[in-house]
Amino acid sequence: VNLSEQTLQDSTSTDAYVRKRTHELSLLSIVIPTYNEELVIHVLYHRLREVLDQLSIPYELIFVNDGSKDQTLRELMKLAREHSEVKVIDFSRNFGHQIAVTAGMDHSQGDAVVIMDADLQDSPQLIKEFVAKWRDGYDVVYAIREERKGETVFKRATAKLFYRTMQRLTDVHIPLDTGDFRLMNRNVVDSLTAIHERHRFIRGLVAWAGYSQIGVPYVRDERYAGETKYPLKKMIKFALDGITSFSFKPLQWATKVGFTVALLGFISAIVIVYEKIFTNVTIQGWASIMVALLVIGGMQLLVLGIVGEYIGRIYDEVRARPLYLIQDLYNFDNEKQLYRM
Ligand code: UDP
Ligand code: MG
Repeated sequence: VNLSEQTLQDSTSTDAYVRKRTHELSLLSIVIPTYNEELVIHVLYHRLREVLDQLSIPYELIFVNDGSKDQTLRELMKLAREHSEVKVIDFSRNFGHQIAVTAGMDHSQGDAVVIMDADLQDSPQLIKEFVAKWRDGYDVVYAIREERKGETVFKRATAKLFYRTMQRLTDVHIPLDTGDFRLMNRNVVDSLTAIHERHRFIRGLVAWAGYSQIGVPYVRDERYAGETKYPLKKMIKFALDGITSFSFKPLQWATKVGFTVALLGFISAIVIVYEKIFTNVTIQGWASIMVALLVIGGMQLLVLGIVGEYIGRIYDEVRARPLYLIQDLYNFDNEKQLYRM
């Protein structure tokens, strides 16, 4: 164990003592969400094959087609027809990245499950290190993005800001600059399957679950082909899901702002009444009233918006619609349920 690994290990919330595993992996599951990724699937498969053949562990590749509008499904079917280890879950529509990953995990059977993106930004080579750490006894091995290649300054800056804001806002320790690229032991996967939340922020849920966790640094490559499936709108929704599912701080912030504004109002009321009764000062009207009106009006709407973000999510949880709907399953032996409550 070198020094940087040591500090990473110490920074996780679980105790550092882990016992080496005495058994080998009997099956490794790899879950890959895909949305309009027709250009990368072929290459991804071959890069994965290379690594997995070197590891010589039995494996299954679970591709989740998240309602792609291009030829992704056809590419996946081609693979599935030739290789029985390639399994495909075809969603009835686009349910989003986090839900696709969830479905993949629900249908996985391995002793350990790796989650990775389809676009080769997450290097398949790192799976070897994941497995090595699993053998050392860790239940979660997550990849830390030391460097991000080929992403816009804006994306890198907002991502950096987001992970640091999350750390300030939440009580669970979510490792900095860590995506969903990780390996999880079966006990962790089962814990996640038991969680029924609809607005899922998986990297947070894994941190919340605990167990023995460790990070390995890596350089995140450029997307192999195609363009990002996370436009700004999805990034904002993702960030809000993360914050609302792990923190009440924005609501507490609203209380504090309310108190402060009320206090200021009270003080100025005293001053104004004093001036009116005991002095000859003419109290300036329009400007001060407008400023107060706009500031308070803006604050109120903002706070209402924050409350709304929470209420909307509560509403979604209460309606309890299925998390996802599956149109078809390919290469799965025993047909499982086609939805998940
Ligand atoms: N993805 C998905 N459903 C979506 C959006 C994305 O399954 O609605 C998949 C996508 O195919 C990729 C992964 O999630 O495998 C990460 O997306 P992307 O690489 O576009 O995000 P970025 O790396 O730009 O943040
Ligand atoms: Mg990507």
